[in-house]
Amino acid sequence: MIKAHVRIILKGLKSISLRIAFHSFFPGMFLAFLPFHPVSSQCNGFQSTVVISLDGFRWDYPEKANTPTLDQIAKTGVKAHSLIPSFPSKTFPNHYSIATGLVPDHHGLVNNSFYDPKMKRPYSMGNADARFDPAFYGGEPIWISAQKQGLRTASFYWVGSDVAIQGKHPDYYKTYDGSVPFSERIDTVIHWLSMPQSIRPQLIMAYYEEPDGIGHDFGPDGKETLSLVHELDSIIGILYNRIKMLPEADCINFIVLSDHGMGATSTERYVNLRDYIPESWPVKIVGGNPNYNLYAEGKWIDSSYNALKKVAHIKTWKPTAVPEHLSYGTNPRTGNIIVVADSAWSVTDREPKKPATGGTHGYDIRNTDMHAIFYATGPSFREGYIHPSFQNIHIYALLAQILVINPALTDGDLNQVIDMLKPQNVPNDPIE
Ligand code: AMP
Ligand code: ZN
Ligand code: ZN
Repeated sequence: MIKAHVRIILKGLKSISLRIAFHSFFPGMFLAFLPFHPVSSQCNGFQSTVVISLDGFRWDYPEKANTPTLDQIAKTGVKAHSLIPSFPSKTFPNHYSIATGLVPDHHGLVNNSFYDPKMKRPYSMGNADARFDPAFYGGEPIWISAQKQGLRTASFYWVGSDVAIQGKHPDYYKTYDGSVPFSERIDTVIHWLSMPQSIRPQLIMAYYEEPDGIGHDFGPDGKETLSLVHELDSIIGILYNRIKMLPEADCINFIVLSDHGMGATSTERYVNLRDYIPESWPVKIVGGNPNYNLYAEGKWIDSSYNALKKVAHIKTWKPTAVPEHLSYGTNPRTGNIIVVADSAWSVTDREPKKPATGGTHGYDIRNTDMHAIFYATGPSFREGYIHPSFQNIHIYALLAQILVINPALTDGDLNQVIDMLKPQNVPNDPIE
């Protein structure tokens, strides 16, 4: 298994064969309207920011494995103690929270799989009809805000970037294909950064599925997981060194982050919802371990709630009773009943087929096992600065500040993260 994971990331590392899909671009059309850039003096007004997401990279992996590249980035730039995910701590909700600055309850991707009672349609990452339908994607991803204000953007697989949200894609983007090796994604990032300034993107966002996959298989303390963490750090090192060799390296911000962490699970610790909600009841159970949303009508809401509310090792809430710190339950897509397992427990909707001894995520965001990473270096960032843990909804505001664009309305707050930036990136107006 470990070999398969490593093979995928290393395959084609030296390949420079680049097939870039130039979806659309507006050559300098809006440049005249760009606001004055605070770092323009050293970069002739042109700066690029690269954001790499390593799925499921738990905040403390650098304490468990050897990660010299991340350590180096922390030295030359900023490291957050941890990046707090939004609830539920799953991949789709969180990548889209990072992109939009909204909690999942507000942007609408309320889980990896859910049901929309108004449209009467299910959503899941494997359901292409739904995944590519902009109707499921609320808010304004940062690539659209940037593009509307004259910047060029690129994305290699960020959640939502291959969907025509507001009828737009990033200027350069790819349709998701999980079999494309990390090395090819890195080659493409370097290619984008090497393009002439007139067509070079100022914002590049790229995604890789590991170490999430291996963390699910072997758990957050598995030697296979920690060995891949080390491997990924080396590959990030290759990318970072290639960026540093570019002629305009001093004008490139480099951010490495993740969407959530990983918690150890065990076959000994699971709850099967079907032991309490018979198949014959007209109740939809949608989601994945450890998060489920239940959709019912009339008396079936209370029947389901009463059947689950006293079950040990899970939390069962009606939408209005969800704890405030989870900011969840106002969107009809969250259903009539919300279930999440307690830390280290699993919840399923069928008898597990095989022992689940690895790991999972999706738990309460106060469980630090769910916390992610945030490392950043480059002309906009302070050096050797450690920032306290912060929630990922603030990243949109941080990126908007670095890109010098007007942000859309979000749940985030620039004041929570502005101290990471060098003074020239801080607005002149005093911050309230
Ligand atoms: P999770 O179940 O939350 O661990 O989801 C992780 C999985 O999401 C990855 O293994 C990918 O296969 C999948 N994934 C991530 N980004 C995308 C995307 N943009 N489109 C489709 N699937 C994705
Ligand atoms: Zn993930
Ligand atoms: Zn996962």
